[in-house]
Amino acid sequence: MSGTSRLLDGKVVIVTGAGSGIGRAAARVFAEDGAQLALFDRDPRGNEETRDLIGGSARAWTCDVSDEASVAEAVAGAVAAFGRLDGAFNNAGIEMANKLVPDLDAAEWARIMAINLTGVFLCMKYQTRAMQGSGGAIVNNSSGDGIIGAPYASDYVATKHGVVGLTRAAACETRYTGVRVNAVLPGLILTPMVEERLLGNPAFEAQVAPMVERHSIGRFGQPEEVGQAACWLLSDRASFVNGALLTVDGGYTAR
Ligand code: NAP
Repeated sequence: MSGTSRLLDGKVVIVTGAGSGIGRAAARVFAEDGAQLALFDRDPRGNEETRDLIGGSARAWTCDVSDEASVAEAVAGAVAAFGRLDGAFNNAGIEMANKLVPDLDAAEWARIMAINLTGVFLCMKYQTRAMQGSGGAIVNNSSGDGIIGAPYASDYVATKHGVVGLTRAAACETRYTGVRVNAVLPGLILTPMVEERLLGNPAFEAQVAPMVERHSIGRFGQPEEVGQAACWLLSDRASFVNGALLTVDGGYTAR
């Protein structure tokens, strides 16, 4: 790909949850499209592996997105290291506890809220401050479950609907912040979360067949396919796209 046609040429972009799955794949897509990467993950080992896979100017920060001080410190570190911030892909998240509402513990509910929803808010807070006035773009990773329901997933569905609301509300503030805010809504994507912890878990067996059926494209997604969609939303090619919910789900939510 020639330098001039790369979507993120020269842009400094944060990726959260960069140590695995969609975050790692997206970071690689962004780097191929010219971005300088600030990689955030609570797991330093996976995150450093991603940094080493990308090479070049990519830098890794250990950051727990549910911890405000950790987020503030990592964003400040990235801005100090690269001199500015142009974009962010807020992707870090965990899966559901796989329980019906009456069986879900308040502690399980609080944990997923803290990471999947409060974590996105905290990242947006410090990223928007860093980008304010100089333009910039944020893409949040919601889910198909951000616009539809699913059994055994009320905790996860609630967080991902929350990310959709947060994205839309922040997009209504672009006139004040100058930052565009959009979301990607993936279907089932073959990452460690899905392959190792959901599909490999007998407790989820009953949920899998109906999920396959809903992906009308006839397969589950690859993490790079989410990265490509996020890459475009972060780029200047999407300069008039704001508050959009981009499904990347093989038709999962189309019916
Ligand atoms: P993954 O392979 O488990 O990767 C998630 C990464 O986020 C892991 O490295 C994880 O670290 C990190 N992380 C978790 N909690 C964190 C925290 N508090 N602070 C910083 N990093 C944290 O999962 P994935 O499938 O790529 O999922 C990425 C995102 O896509 C999630 O938000 C998920 O909800 C969303 N999504 C996934 C799918 C799918 O089918 N895979 C579909 C729709 C949406 P640890 O390894 O230490 O947990």
